[in-house]
Amino acid sequence: ATELADREITCESLDQAASSQFVAQGSRLKEARSLLQRLWGYEDFRPLQEQVIQALLDGRESVVVLPTGGGKSLCYQVPALLKPGLAIVVSPLISLMFDQVSSLQEVGVAAAAIHSGLSNQERQQIAGQIRSGELRLLYLSPERLMTDRMLGFLEQVPLSMVAIDEAHCISDWGHDFRPEYRMLSGLKDRFPQLPIHAFTATATQEVRQDIARQLGLANPQFHVGSFDRPNLIYRVLPREDRDQQVISTIRRHPGESGVVYCLRRKDVDDVTMMLRQAGFRALPYHAGLPDEERHANQHAFLNDHVEIIVATVAFGMGIDKSDVRFVIHTGAPKSLEAYQQESGRAGRDGLDAECWLFYAQGDFALWRSLQANLPEEAQQTAQQVLAGMEGFCQSTKCRHRAIVEYFGQAGESGNCGACDICLGELTEVEDSLVVSQKILSCVVRVEQSFGADHVCKVLAGSRAKNILNRGHDQLSTFGLLKGVDLKVLRHWIEQLISQSFLERYGEYSLLRVTPAGRLVLKGVQSPRLLVANSTSFSQTGIAQVAWAGVDRELFEELRDLRRQLATERGVPPFIIFGD
Ligand code: ADP
Ligand code: MG
Ligand code: ZN
Repeated sequence: ATELADREITCESLDQAASSQFVAQGSRLKEARSLLQRLWGYEDFRPLQEQVIQALLDGRESVVVLPTGGGKSLCYQVPALLKPGLAIVVSPLISLMFDQVSSLQEVGVAAAAIHSGLSNQERQQIAGQIRSGELRLLYLSPERLMTDRMLGFLEQVPLSMVAIDEAHCISDWGHDFRPEYRMLSGLKDRFPQLPIHAFTATATQEVRQDIARQLGLANPQFHVGSFDRPNLIYRVLPREDRDQQVISTIRRHPGESGVVYCLRRKDVDDVTMMLRQAGFRALPYHAGLPDEERHANQHAFLNDHVEIIVATVAFGMGIDKSDVRFVIHTGAPKSLEAYQQESGRAGRDGLDAECWLFYAQGDFALWRSLQANLPEEAQQTAQQVLAGMEGFCQSTKCRHRAIVEYFGQAGESGNCGACDICLGELTEVEDSLVVSQKILSCVVRVEQSFGADHVCKVLAGSRAKNILNRGHDQLSTFGLLKGVDLKVLRHWIEQLISQSFLERYGEYSLLRVTPAGRLVLKGVQSPRLLVANSTSFSQTGIAQVAWAGVDRELFEELRDLRRQLATERGVPPFIIFGD
C-alpha cells in the first residue's frame, strides 16, 4: 500500500481540477488526456472515447455502444476521477469487477467492489473509504446496489454518476437478458439528480432505445461506435468434418491463443478430448463444470498456460484477453448479435485475428426446437433473429458489410480484404444458371416430395437403396451432377433456399420450387452459386507479425497493403515478411 501511495491520486487535487467552475471545457479534456497518459500510459483517446468523456463530464446522460475491445471502461473511469464524488459502476459479474478494480488499483486509483465474498472487516474498510471521500469508484452488482440498505447508505454520500456496464442485460430484446438488471429501473426514482450512463457492446436500434427507456434516461445522448472490426478476418463455411476443420484452423496459429465455441456442453467435452489427443493444449469451459474447475480453466487460458479454450456461450462476458488470435464456432449461434459478440473476443489488441464459423442446417433446427418452448411473442422475435443469422451464413455479401448493416450502419461497398467473400475464397460457379436449373428440375422430378439429402443423391447418381427402391435411378435428372461432391451439392441447395428459389415445407423439411424458382427454370432469373475452395485459404500473414511483436504503425501499413492487393488483383493476397 505504501508503494502505491505516492502514485495515488489525492482526492484533493482531483476535486480541485473537477469542481473548479473556471476550468473551460477544452482544458477539462486536456486534464482527462493527461490522466490517460499519466496513469494508463496511452497516448491519446480513441475517437469516440473523447466525445463520451466530454458528455460524462458535462453530466449529459448517455447510452454508449462500442464494440467489444473498443475501450468502454476508460470512458467512465476517467470522468470518475475528474468529477467530485463517488462513481458507482454496475457490473453483472464478480470476475468483471475484479478485473477492473485490480487494474485500477495497479495504476494507483482508489477503487473497490462490494460482493458476497468480502469479510465484514473488508466491508467496513470500504465503507470507511467511502465516508472519507477517498474512494473514487465503487463496483456493485445490480441486485446489491438496489437493496434498500445500499441505497440508503449511498444517499448519505456525495455521488458523481452511475455507469452501467453491459447495459444490454436490461433489455429482453438483447441477447443476454438478466432479470436483476431490470431492478435498475428503480434507480431514477431514488436518485433523480444523478446522471446515469449506460455502456454496451452490442445493441441494435431497438435495444438502444429499450435501454434508455428502462433506465428512464432524460434526453440521453447516444454514442454509437462503428461495429466494424476491420482487423477480424471472417470465414463462414458449411460444417463438413468438424474435427478436421477445427484442427486445420488451429494449425494456422501455432502457439497462439484461441477460443473454440460449441453449441452444447457435450460437444465441448468431445472437442476438448479430440484436441488433446491431437496434441494441443486445450481446456473445457461450460456451466456444467464445477465452479472451481471452470475458474481454474479460465485462469489457465488468460495466463497462457494453455493455448485453447473450448467453450459454450457461458464463456464470454468479461473475458479480457487481448491477444486471442482466432475464434472458431463449430455451430451457428442463435443471433448475429451473439456472433458479433463472441467472435469479437478475437483481436482485441487491434492486430489481425481470424474468425471461423462452421455451420450446418441442423444448428438452426436445433435453435428452433429450443425456441419452441418460448411464449408466442418471444418465439417470434427469436425466430426472426435466428433467420438473420441463417441468412448471414448463406449470404454471399461481404461479411464485414453484412454485420455492420445488421446493426443499422452503412457498410462500405469496396473489397474489405478480410472476409472469405472478398478474399475470393468462395468462387462463383461459372454456369450457375445451368447448375441451378438441374437442381430445381430434380426437385420437380421427385414431385417436390423429398428432402435435400435425397435430391442430392439423385443428382449425384447415387445407387443407394432408397434411390433404387423408388426407381429414382430412372429419372431424367439422375446423375445430372455426377462427380460433384455431395457436400457441395448440399451447399448449393442451401444457397438456392437463401436466395428464395427453393423452400422447405412441412414437418420433414421437404423441398419445393418457389415462383421465383420457376423463373429460373425458364431462364428468366439467374441465381448465384458459390463454392468454397477450401484448400486455398489465404494466409494474410499479419497474425504472424503480431506474433513477432511488430509495432502498430507497421501493422497498419501492412493491413492497407493487404486491402489494396485484394482490391486491385482480386486475388487472395499473401504477404511475405522478412528483413
Ligand atoms: P470494452 O469494455 O469496450 O470491451 P475495454 O474497456 O476492456 O473494452 O478496453 C479494451 C482494451 O483497450 C483495454 O486493454 C484497454 O486498456 C485498451 N484501451 C482503451 N482505451 C485505449 C486508448 N485510448 N488507447 C489505447 N488502448 C486503449
Ligand atoms: Mg467492458
Ligand atoms: Zn469482405
